[in-house]
Amino acid sequence: MLGEIIAVGDELTSGRTLNTNSFYAAGHLFAAGHEIIAMATVRDTPAEIGAALKRAIDRADFVIVTGGLGPTSDDLTNEAVSRALGLPTTFYPEVLGRIKSQRAHRPDQKSRDLEKLAWLPEGAEILKPETSIAGYLLVHHEKPVFFLPGIPHQMKELLADKVIPRLALWKGGFVHCVRQKIFKTFGITETEINRKLKHLENRDQNVRIGYYPVFPDVHLSLTVIDADLKKVEQLFQQYVAEIHTLLADSIFGVDEETMADVVGRLLSGQGKTLAVAESCSGGLVAHKITKVAGSSQYFLGGVVAYHNEFKRKFLGVENELLQKHGAVSGPTAQAMAAGIRGLAKADIGIAVTGIAGPTGGSVEKPVGTVFFGLASHGNTRDFRFAFAGDRWQIQELSAQTALELVRRLLLDKLIANNEKEGRH
Ligand code: ATP
Ligand code: MG
Repeated sequence: MLGEIIAVGDELTSGRTLNTNSFYAAGHLFAAGHEIIAMATVRDTPAEIGAALKRAIDRADFVIVTGGLGPTSDDLTNEAVSRALGLPTTFYPEVLGRIKSQRAHRPDQKSRDLEKLAWLPEGAEILKPETSIAGYLLVHHEKPVFFLPGIPHQMKELLADKVIPRLALWKGGFVHCVRQKIFKTFGITETEINRKLKHLENRDQNVRIGYYPVFPDVHLSLTVIDADLKKVEQLFQQYVAEIHTLLADSIFGVDEETMADVVGRLLSGQGKTLAVAESCSGGLVAHKITKVAGSSQYFLGGVVAYHNEFKRKFLGVENELLQKHGAVSGPTAQAMAAGIRGLAKADIGIAVTGIAGPTGGSVEKPVGTVFFGLASHGNTRDFRFAFAGDRWQIQELSAQTALELVRRLLLDKLIANNEKEGRH
């Protein structure tokens, strides 16, 4: 079915609160086979709530409204609905009884305020009468309109337990079967991916491919929608396999996986340990690795060696070498990687040294030049990259590239060409 979501609240339109409700509801409704044609965000003003509601009922098969159901004077959704749809408000004594019994421990709440919660537009069907969660269903012009609380966890509960199951059974409602997969790539541009997958794009009407740069990665979504579950499964499996073949090891992970998750999984799987030496990434590589629960299994630690003296003292990078090649150079990156590997007694040492900018660049080594050292059993090498972007973007690209190099090493898929240009 085609749906519209309306989020109500001054805190949303003034930019104080991020409207996560619409985002969450859209994702789950989509996964349940519905399409959201529009999302509106309006102030706590009856005229605007009413106008948005009428417009939504006109163009969608179902509507979801979140927020403004509460007891405070700024919660005006019920009033707006009554006015916009010409429905008188009716008193629901059972609603008040339940709220009072559940809030008995909160004598601070005036009963007059609570009473407001029990005045609902005529015809409202309480969605979860066994609880005190506000939320009801109105059927207008034979279309379901769901009113859900603004509080995110309550909204989520009603959406999952009541809204999605009700929509699935809605008479005349057309529910699709949907399968979706997100493929995550790094180090390959959107245009390159597009070129490789172009021929898949319009091959089947019920298969959609989308490209989303999610800095520093590029994500690709595959969505298969059809009324026939078997057909969906068959097409889905076929496309997943084709995309994996076409993009091969450019895909580092799927769905919720992050680069650090994948590197962690590979390290644990191979029983190897990692240590890092970071200069321009300032600890970001270690931060990304340690965001993964259980990383102590394979991550030994790291050194942020910003100053040359620190590189010498803690990583054993010799003065001569620093003088001859500079701190931002292949030999220094190699020495840092070998240094941290030895210090930590790790299987793999990865090092990052570069120019994050905005100053410090030169003709031979412009801002964005970053060297990586990778030391593993019997082998130490370096890689030179040229990144574009501001300081934060260069640091982020550096950290992700460090992880990508470790991933490729573990997969035995290191790219021979040691200079890559023009990423982002
Ligand atoms: P209550 O009974 O608490 O008054 P309500 O339905 O009136 O519920 P609101 O008062 O509008 O909901 O919002 C309650 C809380 O939920 C607030 O902290 C608000 O910032 C948050 N909230 C409301 N709408 C959204 C939204 N669309 N996305 C994220 N948070 C939201
Ligand atoms: Mg509100």
